[in-house]
Formats: sequence, C-alpha cells, structure tokens
Amino acid sequence: MKNPGKMIQFFNTLSGKKEPFHSIQAKKVRLYTCGPTVYDYAHIGNFRAYIFEDLLKRFLLFKGYKVKHVMNITDVDDKTIKKADHEGVSLKQVTDKYIRAFFADIDTLNILRADLYPKATEHIPEMAHMVKALVEKGYAYKKNGSYYFDISKFKDYGKLAKIDRDELKTGERVESDEYDKKNAHDFALWKDKKPGEPFWETEIGPGRPGWHIECSVMSTKYLGQPIDIHCGGVDNIFPHHENEIAQSETYADKKLAHFWLHCHHLIVEGSKMSKSKGNQYTLRDLADQGIDPLVIRYLLLSTHYRKMVNYSDKTLKQSQSSLERIRSFLYELKTRSFAEGENPEVKKWIQDTEKKFTDSLSDDLNISLALTSLFELIREINKLMANQELYHNDVRAVQSSFEKWDQVLGILPKEDEDQLEASIKEKIDQRNKARKEKNYDLADQIRDELLEKGIILEDTKDGVRWKKK
Ligand SMILES: [Zn+2]
Repeated sequence: MKNPGKMIQFFNTLSGKKEPFHSIQAKKVRLYTCGPTVYDYAHIGNFRAYIFEDLLKRFLLFKGYKVKHVMNITDVDDKTIKKADHEGVSLKQVTDKYIRAFFADIDTLNILRADLYPKATEHIPEMAHMVKALVEKGYAYKKNGSYYFDISKFKDYGKLAKIDRDELKTGERVESDEYDKKNAHDFALWKDKKPGEPFWETEIGPGRPGWHIECSVMSTKYLGQPIDIHCGGVDNIFPHHENEIAQSETYADKKLAHFWLHCHHLIVEGSKMSKSKGNQYTLRDLADQGIDPLVIRYLLLSTHYRKMVNYSDKTLKQSQSSLERIRSFLYELKTRSFAEGENPEVKKWIQDTEKKFTDSLSDDLNISLALTSLFELIREINKLMANQELYHNDVRAVQSSFEKWDQVLGILPKEDEDQLEASIKEKIDQRNKARKEKNYDLADQIRDELLEKGIILEDTKDGVRWKKK
C-alpha cells in the first residue's frame, strides 16, 4: 500500500495552535484570501502574503484537493477615493489601472490565478442587504446616515485577535476602516454619502460600504458558509478579520471559516518597510534593478510564513544562489549524456526525498525543511554523476520528480520561456554587431522584428535590456 504520508496540520489563528486539517467536503477546499486595495502598485510586503497563499493552495492541489479560491478586489474605500481625488480622475480610472498592474505582477511572480476576483463595486446591493439584515437582527444601528455594528451584542467579539471583552469600548464609534486593538469600537458597515465622494443609492439609503462588509458578502456569495480556510497577513487579524467574523457569523448564524491562516510581515534590510524610507519596493522597482522575479519568489517563499521575512541584499544573494544551484543541476541533467540503464539507489533517494518534502509541507508548510530535502537529493545525485554511476533512466526519474515538486514551488522557468530567452539574446547580439559595424538599417530591422513579437528593447548604460510588451 502506498504510504499516505503525514496528516496535514496548520496553525489556526482562531484556536492559537496547530490543528489537523480536515476539509468540510471530502477533498474539496474553499479558500478565501483578502485581495488588493487597488490604489497603487502592490509592494513586496503584499506579495509576501500572496506568495504564502499561493504555496498553501499549490500544496493542497498537490495533495489531491480541488481548491476553489476567491480573492476580492477592493476598488472603493478611503484610499482609492483619496487617490482619485488627488489625481483628479475618476475612481474607475484609478482602480482599472492598478487592477491591470496587479494581474501583470502576479503572473510575473508565477502566482496561480484565483477562480474568481469579485470587485466590491459590483456587489453594492448585496452589501446594503447584509447591513439591513444586521439591523433587523438587532446587531447594527444607524447614526447620522451611517450604519455601525454594535460589538457589545456579539458575544464572540475579539475571539480571533484575542481581545479581552472587558477592554472593549462599546457604544463609541470608529469611522475609518483601519485602526488598532486599543480602538476596538463599533465599526462602520456603511458610510453615509459625503460631498465629493462616490455613493450608491440602495435600500438602506445613499452611501458606500465599509471595507469589512465586502469580504463578508463576497466570501458568502461565492463560497458559502462556513468556508475551509480564510487567509491574510497578520495585520488583517484586527480589525478586518475580527469584523468579518462579527458580520458573517451574526448574519448566517454559522461560523465564517474553520481555519484562519496569517503570514507575518516583511521587513527590508532589517527595518520596517515604509514609503518615507523609500524601501517599499514594487515589483517594477525590482525589475528596474534587473532582479529575476523568480528569485524574488524564492526569497518570499523560502521563509516560513509565520516568521518575518527579511528582504535584503544578503537574502537576495542567498536566494539567487539557491535557485541557481537547482537550475544548474537540472541543466547538467538535460545537457550531459548518460549511459543506458539505471541505478537502484536513485529510486530510493527519490522516494525518500518525496516523503520528506511532503511531510515537511504537511507540517504547517515547513518550507525550509522541504527545500533542504531537495538540496540533499541534488548533492547525492551530483556525487553519483561525478562517479559515472548515474544512468539514463535515473536522469528521467529525477527530472520528472523536480517537475512534480515544482508544481508546489513554482520556481523553475517554463521550458518555452528558456527558449524564448535564448532566441532573444541571439537577436540582441546580432543587433549589437550590426550597430558596431554601423549597419543601422539591419539594427533597426532586428528591433522591429522583435517588436512584432511583443519584445521591446531598451538601450541603457549597462547594455541592452528587453521586456515583454
Ligand atoms: Zn478581506
């Protein structure tokens, strides 16, 4: 019988401990992850969360689960409105621009797309409806045209963020979407129409939704209730997720989610990321520095999700060399020639590695141990290769195992990308040669040829760079 491996366990923020993971329906997982607020380019701190969620999802897929993944897009809130106002354009112009950028970035980082990306502005009537239902149940009230959730009514308030109920400031209200634990007040479900702000006419009056209500509405609408796993960064625990729980569990009289998984912050060179320090890098900033996006992926992926990730020159170099070690190993296997036959040792090594890799990830996504198991295998296979004890069938087995494991990691370039890169490099060399020989017609012709294929060349002081259109 095939060894089923270790049981999957995740650290559940709700219980504060590691728990065996069981899906509600056999082999099906309903996953909700809080998505971007599209008022600016996402920064590496945001990508830390998206990559952790990607690892989680890929691992569940690898373990044979069907995953239905929904991620919301916050396209109306305090920040998006402020940005549109500042730039003197419509809310939609701002959000469309950053939605496009968001999708381009997640593709660049090899993050699997969710099944659905519902937008807040497309669910306004449903949000108004949920607010109305909360009022009817006696958990929400209206004050000066806005609606608030009465946290004193919800007896479980604070269960996720571990807030002592005695410390709650009940009866006072907080208007903004983000605030700290010390300010756990009645929070805004719906904000009254204000001059100069977008608003919608609804059954509860004119206005716009608060941030928290959108996730309650969209997770229930597309995934039902309860869902299996709800994710975000640690800064989402309070107030966002605490408030989602209060709304959804009051509304449906059911738990919102069985598992709550949260990743820790990202810091840059050991200190907190902030706009004023200029260290809040976007993916574009890093691409301008010529950094391979898969190296960034590796860096963000390779620290356990509940530990702080340090983005620094040092960790970047380490990630680069780790990734290079895997790539050059696979390159050797691809390009060397091997004698026919097989070495029985190899099969054993692969089985061992597979078990370690899977068991490590089953233990609350212990990625460091999972990666270590791959490097151990590389070391052993390299030894066999050096001793001429590696054969054709072994090579095939190792290659296909790495392909399989990369379904979880997503760190290896796809084959056709490699070929594309090689052919572009060749063209660039031809063009450089033509320019050196002052054959500018030919140089321009090559540039146009590439442009037709969607490749843009940029002449920089460090030489020619290319990017996709
Ligand atoms: Zn959310």
